[in-house]
Amino acid sequence: MKIAFFSTKPYDKQFFEKENEKYGFELNFYETHLGPHIVNAIEKEDAVCVFVNDQLNREVIEVLAQKGIKIIALRCAGFNNVDMDAAKEFGIYICRVPAYSPEAVAEHAMAMLLTLNRKTHKAYNRVREQNFSLNGLLGFNLYQKKIGVIGTGKIGKAFAKIALGFGAEVIAYDLYPDQSLSDLKVKYVDLETLFTQSDIISLHCPLTVDNHYLINKESIDKMKSGVTIINTSRGNLINTTDAIQALKNRQIGLLGIDVYEQEEKLFFKDLSATIIDDDTIQLLMSFPNVLLTAHQAFFTKEALEQISQRTLKSIDELLQNRTTDQEVLL
Ligand code: NAD
Repeated sequence: MKIAFFSTKPYDKQFFEKENEKYGFELNFYETHLGPHIVNAIEKEDAVCVFVNDQLNREVIEVLAQKGIKIIALRCAGFNNVDMDAAKEFGIYICRVPAYSPEAVAEHAMAMLLTLNRKTHKAYNRVREQNFSLNGLLGFNLYQKKIGVIGTGKIGKAFAKIALGFGAEVIAYDLYPDQSLSDLKVKYVDLETLFTQSDIISLHCPLTVDNHYLINKESIDKMKSGVTIINTSRGNLINTTDAIQALKNRQIGLLGIDVYEQEEKLFFKDLSATIIDDDTIQLLMSFPNVLLTAHQAFFTKEALEQISQRTLKSIDELLQNRTTDQEVLL
């Protein structure tokens, strides 16, 4: 069994090679994204293992099928970058890692919120310069604030519990409310109410055709003036141009994003010596009240262990036709 890994970094190799001691697959690691530019170069592989920004459109999937690829293994939860209909049509199995330490992402969302609010990133730099002034570092309590959680699946639920731990009032919107959260006094409301009432909004729903640009001028205008928005889900949930406008007119008070609409051109790369040809992200990074991290919410030791375990197990199960659980989508 040969598996070609795309968009790989040294840490992917480290965790997958360790886990592969159980299986003995042949693992080939490539730094490049998988997309139309490279798919024709694939030779003699049985499966491809991809990440969030690999491009699995119809064109790519058709070539993969021609090359005899049997499995596309996503080493992530989201699968919005895969044309599922094409995979089905060309008879390629898809597996993913639906749950890998949801706490990793939820904790990062809270870390972003606390950093933005209490300005620890600015304080760190100040103190190193022997500047012990507090001017400009004023924050606010999370205690008794209203936090709106959109999407209360595994990550949203973990985030809601953390927020409850701070003594915040948590309201939530999901297509399928979770009774166990209602039992913890999380109040489910409609989206309109969540937008109008929340002091802080954290996005934890997947990106779908229905919620593309969920956060746009119209929805932002409904929000409280100075609202805080945290997005650790997918970049296209927010219309970045509208968010920038709202930052300029102070409607958005704080914005924390771990994901970005055009992230595939930027994230997971060291571009420190490069001129970045993306005016939108340059503008975003210029705001003192915006915190941007480069899709690192999942990045904990525990999550990487679970990702490598689940991915190789799913591939092994698919190979042996022992596919009963939800990790296998097709
Ligand atoms: P999940 O499937 O457990 O939960 C998603 C929830 O969102 C479900 O309860 C679903 O009913 C709800 N939902 C679906 N569409 C919705 C909509 N339009 N409005 C409101 N709710 C909706 O998924 P999860 O494991 O909690 O992950 C959530 C998302 O987090 C993933 O889809 C992915 O995009 C993102 N994610 C990001 C990182 C990161 O490193 N930044 C890591 C993992 C996952």
